Amino acid sequence: MSKNEAAEGAAAPDDGPIPLDTLRHSAAHVMAEAVQQIWPHAKFGIGPPIADGFYYDFDLPRPLTPDDLAQIERRMRRIIKANLPFSSQEIEGEAAKELFRERGQPYKLELIEALMAGEASGEVADSPDAAGVSGGNVRLYEQGKFLDLCGGPHVARTGEVGPFKLLRVAGAYWRGDENRPQLQRIYGTAWHTQQELDDYLWKLEEARRRDHRRLGTDLGLFFFNEQVGGGLPLWEPDGAVLRSVSEDFWKEEHRKWGYEYVYSPHIGTADLWSSSGHLEFFRDAMYAPIDIDQQQFLLKPMNCPFHVQVYRRRLRSYRELPVRYCELGTVYRYERAGVLHGLLRVRGFTQDDSHIFCRPDQLEDEINGVLDLGLHLLRSFGFHEYEIELSVRDPNNLDQYMGGDKEWEQAEGALRRALEGHNLDFHVAEGEAVFYAPKIDIHLLDSLGRTWQCTTVQVDFNLPERFDLGYIGEDGAEHRPFMVHRALLGSLERFLGTLIEHYGGAFPLWLAPAQAIVLPIADRHNAYAAEVAAALEQAGLRARVDSRSQRIGAKIREAQLQKIPYMLVVGDREAAAQQVAVRRRSGEDRGTVAVPEVVAVMQREVEAKASEPLL
Ligand SMILES: [Zn+2]
Ligand SMILES: [Zn+2]
Repeated sequence: MSKNEAAEGAAAPDDGPIPLDTLRHSAAHVMAEAVQQIWPHAKFGIGPPIADGFYYDFDLPRPLTPDDLAQIERRMRRIIKANLPFSSQEIEGEAAKELFRERGQPYKLELIEALMAGEASGEVADSPDAAGVSGGNVRLYEQGKFLDLCGGPHVARTGEVGPFKLLRVAGAYWRGDENRPQLQRIYGTAWHTQQELDDYLWKLEEARRRDHRRLGTDLGLFFFNEQVGGGLPLWEPDGAVLRSVSEDFWKEEHRKWGYEYVYSPHIGTADLWSSSGHLEFFRDAMYAPIDIDQQQFLLKPMNCPFHVQVYRRRLRSYRELPVRYCELGTVYRYERAGVLHGLLRVRGFTQDDSHIFCRPDQLEDEINGVLDLGLHLLRSFGFHEYEIELSVRDPNNLDQYMGGDKEWEQAEGALRRALEGHNLDFHVAEGEAVFYAPKIDIHLLDSLGRTWQCTTVQVDFNLPERFDLGYIGEDGAEHRPFMVHRALLGSLERFLGTLIEHYGGAFPLWLAPAQAIVLPIADRHNAYAAEVAAALEQAGLRARVDSRSQRIGAKIREAQLQKIPYMLVVGDREAAAQQVAVRRRSGEDRGTVAVPEVVAVMQREVEAKASEPLL
């Protein structure tokens, strides 16, 4: 077995740095040894390397505290300093079981049994800890007094484990099964250099600071409520402003790009979802039927069948095409409770959806138009870097797809040429197309370099067949139109979550829920402050007043925490001169400015969707 081969000897090649996975997996073993020193009766689960770090699962007599992590780290440093060798041996499975039985390690016993029974699948085989068996043997690794069932590879000595940090503790069911014991999983990270570790920890802290769930609460944007139900966000007024400004912009641009807005209901009959194929292929993501007058209805997981019905409403002539319907359509899909995550994974979300019906000779222009509009929207929201995938057929398996060869070639070609024409780098994923559609997926890169799922463009060979869509061509005969599904922002909820993290809640002026706050220095300035705010509101800007009897320093701090772009401070002098003292949320003082000038510059900044302040 290749796993055994790979396990031979130390992993560090002479001519390069130790692979990070090896470093991190070794750190996991060192952590386990430290835990064993503190709790000699600790029972061990598995401890693989993961993206950016490692973990190990432990069954311990009590819940771990932050102090425990510090103590484990101290012991790990001692083990690293002692520079103990990692040694490995292959032994017969029954003998290995005996060793772990003596050591009181039931989880390891179970893993050996699973390995020997050849049922080493799922979390066991995915882990490098799965010490592959050949001829009934298993591989063990040992350093110091810690013995593990492990396929390796590891560093040669503990001294080679790089700078590390333990991060947090989480509960994890043994083998991911909620009927099995819950273990304590300690997460850690390890790197080649202290600088790499520091950079990573900074990024973690920054990501924590920008977490949209935390900012959603702090800034009063959205929240979840148990009585309403998991995965069903509620938008507070400030979040609703952010959302409606985004939606209004989206609608306006779609109108300019020749789209027509439609509305569709949230439920449809089982007959509709059966015709569309959703009951056949998408059932797992759909909720249980609702019975109305002995007829079954289902919540919509997609908007497509409704838009198809609008298209089918009457006979179409080739002159009418393309038809572009769009809708901010809220759909409902089942997600397990455990994977719900703020606005990123929810159970009800709003797609910025559209379906385009066009003639074959129009397809390429349509795809180009979709990319034009999509990039225009994403850039307007401040996203300039993308990771793009073009999913096409598996060339060795062409007969598993719906639709004709000619149509597929045309559709794949149109998608590819549109990407090339927009000078976008993309990766071609052969065999990743669904059986009825090639597609483009665009992921956004945010200000921390993280990727976020966003745009999808699909050419569909399924629904036009299922609903027998047609149009009368120039030749007087009926033809099948091409159908394009596309969501540019993807899900509004997820997109706004992404936007919150991208800006860390400090939105550009055009998106900020409150664009300016007027801060009277004393109560006697409240009337003038209200006048200033009214002037801004009259000009279409969003302004508020902090008229509480607080010291001005406290008001400024509060406004900065709320990340309001401009603070307009007013006292005796400003009131007399019909001016305001302008402060940016960054703390920068911009001096006194006349009110009409403030209005004009802010309007210009909103109009330009500027990412930097102009005032
Ligand atoms: Zn291991
Ligand atoms: Zn669709």
